[in-house]
Amino acid sequence: WRDGSFPWTKELEANNKRVFGNHSFRLNQREVINATMSGHDVFVLMPTGGGKSLTYQLPAVVCPGLTLVISPLVSLIQDQIMHLFQANIPAAYLSAHMEWSEQQEILRALSSEYCKYKLLYVTPEKVAKSDFLLRQLESLNTRQLLTRIVIDEAHCVSQWGHDFRPDYQALGILKKKFPDTPVLALTATATASVKEDVVQALGLVNCIVFRQSFNRPNLWYSVIPKTKKCIEDIDKFIKENHYDESGIIYCLSRMDCEKVAEKLQECGHKAAFYHGSMDPAQRAFVQKQWSKDEVNIICATVAFGMGINKPDVRFVIHHSLPKSIEGYHQECGRAGRDGQRASCVLYYSYSDYIRVKHMISQGIIEQSSLTPGQNRMNAANSGRILETNTENLLRMVSYCENDVDCRRLLQLIHFGEKFDYTTCNKTCDNCLKIKSFIEKDVTEIAKQLVELVKLAGQQCSSAHILEVYRGSLSQFVKKHGHQTLSLHGAGKHLPKGEASRVLRHLVTEDLLVEEVKKSDVYGSVSSILKVNEFKACELFSGRKTIMLRFPSSV
Ligand code: ADP
Repeated sequence: WRDGSFPWTKELEANNKRVFGNHSFRLNQREVINATMSGHDVFVLMPTGGGKSLTYQLPAVVCPGLTLVISPLVSLIQDQIMHLFQANIPAAYLSAHMEWSEQQEILRALSSEYCKYKLLYVTPEKVAKSDFLLRQLESLNTRQLLTRIVIDEAHCVSQWGHDFRPDYQALGILKKKFPDTPVLALTATATASVKEDVVQALGLVNCIVFRQSFNRPNLWYSVIPKTKKCIEDIDKFIKENHYDESGIIYCLSRMDCEKVAEKLQECGHKAAFYHGSMDPAQRAFVQKQWSKDEVNIICATVAFGMGINKPDVRFVIHHSLPKSIEGYHQECGRAGRDGQRASCVLYYSYSDYIRVKHMISQGIIEQSSLTPGQNRMNAANSGRILETNTENLLRMVSYCENDVDCRRLLQLIHFGEKFDYTTCNKTCDNCLKIKSFIEKDVTEIAKQLVELVKLAGQQCSSAHILEVYRGSLSQFVKKHGHQTLSLHGAGKHLPKGEASRVLRHLVTEDLLVEEVKKSDVYGSVSSILKVNEFKACELFSGRKTIMLRFPSSV
């Protein structure tokens, strides 16, 4: 798809310069554009700031007809419309918050013989709830004016993702109604199972997938034990490393945001807070102050972030535990967009885990940019979603508690990416502090874990297997009678975190396969472990040994 000899190549290059002011294409942009313009369904995984918008805005300029864009947030849409307006590209948006007369006017323009818009942005609930919009789209389609459908932030379709939004599930109707219109699904965050789920839910056909590395070499990662002096530590860290520079501090609750901001102000920082309870004008004001460097530090819930494009964010601090590795990666991704070095520091305590877990189960945790009302809707969390969220959180805990493995490796494994930890170049706390390694043979532990997965019927999540291996007598373990398995408690004596490291390693080595599970057999788990018999054979026949690195001096 890189080839520069498509019929539209010259026109693309000319418009990329003339309309968008770009002198070249970034990684995968040309490929994605060629694939979607050839009429294929395309799934794009590109990190935040990678330049996803161009992959549909440029084709929209070059092709006749209308591009329909589904985007989750009105604020994101307004930002896009403003940029398009500045570039003289006719675009409009429809949302439930608009005056009815305003909506009517846009819908009328769509039904006129010549549709004057190149792009129409809508929120997913518009597609889910407006028959009228669907009728307009049908009419455009009949007139061969519906050129392309773009699903932005496509991971929101999947219940396995970290940011599931029920209205996104209704988008499957688009491919059913318009099977010949190419769909372009875009996201900055999706694991292999989320990708599969999105492709299935949207009904994409023979989909072409583009993905690029999620490694951000200019971000420095560390996890620091959280104590009562956390805010003093943060104050010191900023003064020593990023004084007067721009940064975000992610906090768990609205009260935390206000408290942290106030304490930092007392320490002499230009800090402000941002969360979902503030009215939109207040939020916009704070965001503007920050963009203009009138305020350096924003203490925010995850409601702050989507669509923010400040290039010189020098640090992202997590004052408490993020909900998932995907969320964490995305939040950190807001630092260092200019390619310069930036710090990502996470303050971790086990008590925060308990707190986040409770908030998730009560549905009172703030999601990225959702209004409180919508939060409550999501709180009607089905058991399965709750289980997914809990499992995502447990993975975050094991990330924090791992004080051996390269942080980049741990994050990238999660996105199904292979990474050679020697190329981290000591840009994470673990690689930095560990001077030398010894390799330890963990083959016996590996065999026991594989055996245990089989004994438990290949129906359990990794978190469950680890619990049984460590000898847990939790209600859940007992409910399935797993306390009677011969390997229950076999890993009791192992140092903390070791079994989970071995288990993760078995998944990356493909000895165990994580499969998305759609029905509830053992409780409501989101992914279950199965044994790859072929690879397991090598392990049990003695042809394969499993080695893991351990620090020889810390
Ligand atoms: P994403 O949606 O992937 O987070 P955006 O589409 O918002 O990223 O693009 C991020 C920034 O990169 C924008 O400021 C955009 O103008 C710029 N950009 C995108 N493509 C190019 C390009 N080919 N050359 C230069 N700048 C680009």
